[in-house]
Amino acid sequence: MAMTACRECGEQVSKSARTCPYCGISSPGFSALQFVTSLIVVLLIGAGIAGAIGNQNDHPSAANATTRGAHGGRQIAESACGVSMAQYLALKTDMTYTTVVSILGCYGEETSSSEIAGFKSVLYTWRGNGFAANMNAIFQNGRLASKAQFGLK
Ligand SMILES: [Zn+2]
Repeated sequence: MAMTACRECGEQVSKSARTCPYCGISSPGFSALQFVTSLIVVLLIGAGIAGAIGNQNDHPSAANATTRGAHGGRQIAESACGVSMAQYLALKTDMTYTTVVSILGCYGEETSSSEIAGFKSVLYTWRGNGFAANMNAIFQNGRLASKAQFGLK
């Protein structure tokens, strides 16, 4: 049987002894060091659980921050960008050019413009995100009338 020094009187007692046969204290083999170590373990486990709960709480706020950043930090590039199929599909007839630009994230290149009987039609072209991909949209009096794409991903 493993023996250890009693933490109170120092006599050799069994590690598993509930009380010291010499001085009568309880758990004589349970040293102060072991007690501190187990206390630290308990604290670490507690901290781990608290940390896990804290992390779960952090997720929604982190998502909110990302959303805020996307709204506040949306940059409209002057140069051509790569329009994706998802962006293209988000474009609906009758949208204004400004709305379309905010969805695509960049201004289109005005390819042609004509005005017939007070009806102004402007064709804008955007570069797509795929090889030789592009999209174009015709705006009539500033509203999206039709769109077309090639090779968007
Ligand atoms: Zn003792």
